Amino acid sequence: MLNLIFLGPPGAGKGTQAQRLASRFGIPQLSTGDVLRRAVAEKSALGMKAKALMESGKLVPDEVVNGIVDEALARPEALRGFLLDGFPRTVAQATALDEMLARRGRRIDYVLNLEVPAEVLVDRLSGRLSCPNDGSVYHLRTNPPKRPGLCDKDGAKLVQRPDDQPEAVRRRLSEYQEKTALLTGYYKPRKVLRTIDGVGTPEEVEGRIASALRDHPTGGPAQP
Ligand code: AMP
Repeated sequence: MLNLIFLGPPGAGKGTQAQRLASRFGIPQLSTGDVLRRAVAEKSALGMKAKALMESGKLVPDEVVNGIVDEALARPEALRGFLLDGFPRTVAQATALDEMLARRGRRIDYVLNLEVPAEVLVDRLSGRLSCPNDGSVYHLRTNPPKRPGLCDKDGAKLVQRPDDQPEAVRRRLSEYQEKTALLTGYYKPRKVLRTIDGVGTPEEVEGRIASALRDHPTGGPAQP
């Protein structure tokens, strides 16, 4: 069982790395951003509540995302572990997560904090293309899809996320600085925090994460 959280600003590579680790370890990736984007696309009540906030780069209310995570943790596939990507983003979310896990007799094994300088984040986000179906991420220059504009996995037309436009990017980075960055202080005393240099290719960063996980008490999750 491996319970992981990815921390880091928008564009740090949380989604990319969470997707890689999820398939490597056979545990589900839970991205609150992906769940919310699907809800917006489906125009559900949740999506209607979140749409304007997301598009302007603001956080959606804690109780909304807490509910999404609580539901996901109740699913049978989460019994083997989980990778949280984009949650928690506030101290209130972190304490809510602690309660959700305590109720289930579980705890966080690692908090992987991806560090990337601001100028690299802006470059990554401005060139990012995303698959609206499966959340796969590409970059116009550094990681282009095999066929221009189309997802390698399902052939869907790739889109630029509305919140990857410059003004929303600025807002997301400032939301991160104000509300999320201080979570490293929340987790540090528990000795679960691992800070990872997030600059480099996805393979390089994945290698650093694998080294950080090697001291897991069980010897690390089983490799496939
Ligand atoms: P992400 O895909 O993680 O960058 O999230 C995209 C957007 O979804 C964020 O800018 C927020 O508007 C919203 N969102 C995702 N996760 C959370 C969260 N844990 N707390 C609040 N808002 C969130």
